[in-house]
Amino acid sequence: MVNRQPVISIIGAGIAGLEAARQLSALGYKPVLIEKAPVVGGHVAEWNRLFPDMSPSEDLTGPLRAQTAGVRTLLNTEVASINRLKDEYNLILSDGSSLLCQAVLFATGFHLFDASKKEEYGYGIYDRVITNRDLEAWFNHKDDRRIDHPKAVGFVHCVGSRDVKAGNAQCSKVCCITAIKEAIEIKEEFPDAEVYCFYMDLRLFGKKYEDFYIKAQRDYGIHFIRGRVSEVGEAVDGRVVVKAEDTLNGKPIKVTLDLLVLMAGIVCNPDAQHYAREIGVAVDDDGFLKSRNNVDAITESSRPGVFFAGSCTGAKTVPETLAEARSAALAIHQYLNKPR
Ligand code: SF4
Repeated sequence: MVNRQPVISIIGAGIAGLEAARQLSALGYKPVLIEKAPVVGGHVAEWNRLFPDMSPSEDLTGPLRAQTAGVRTLLNTEVASINRLKDEYNLILSDGSSLLCQAVLFATGFHLFDASKKEEYGYGIYDRVITNRDLEAWFNHKDDRRIDHPKAVGFVHCVGSRDVKAGNAQCSKVCCITAIKEAIEIKEEFPDAEVYCFYMDLRLFGKKYEDFYIKAQRDYGIHFIRGRVSEVGEAVDGRVVVKAEDTLNGKPIKVTLDLLVLMAGIVCNPDAQHYAREIGVAVDDDGFLKSRNNVDAITESSRPGVFFAGSCTGAKTVPETLAEARSAALAIHQYLNKPR
């Protein structure tokens, strides 16, 4: 516990911001959460179930919300600008007020790549081409007329990831496993549907991910086709025609689908880039915020008093995000208690 009460601003009340707020509160601080949405929870709260356990996202976000209920939380509030003073930061908020703080935590999360930029996949052009986010919304609300007992569903991996032309050379890390999760969920909803995953490589690095992949093939009969989709078109009946090269057996394939799901990649939240530049925090050449180093200081920025947690520095899984939020809270505590 510190003698004075420094102000710690946490920008973003997704799971990174909430977990950091929870930990900082446990350490005796009174952090302030600033969230531009009307609710807390961020992207994870919009997702239906979480891989690889298939647990409802509410199982994570519900307790986090409850345990941070006493934290001062400014909803519907954007940071209009940040000014760097000597040892402090002055945040100007969208309601015209300001917040002088001794530490700032970027928990600004990510944006999904805008799939319409990859015109060849037809998002925004063909009715039955949707994104991973659209599908999660359907799992939650079941109110998308485009998803009507499909008999054939495809998933395209790496949409706007590992793609220099799209401006994002990085692997988004979570979309292979998300595609497998969503493919299984489609099979659970529509057991008769044929489901295809078109991938370049399968990057399944996390605990139990490989088991999940085996289960998808063995128990659900999901087809995994290694090969880039070369062309997407629309048949006269409104179905989606996909052409691809199966690079494992060297044959071109063509399938007609009722639904094509694009696994849009993860890019940095542009707000985070903007704030970073305002206060001289480095943005890396991949577009994400630059940590002091990527080995043992991933939650620390190049500027004293500015810290990171979660996907502002690159694509992260949920467990990684939570671990970083805890680590960032400890780093903030150590920073504020450092003899000056
Ligand atoms: S996790 Fe898979 S789908 Fe996502 S960018 Fe990496 S290789 Fe592509």
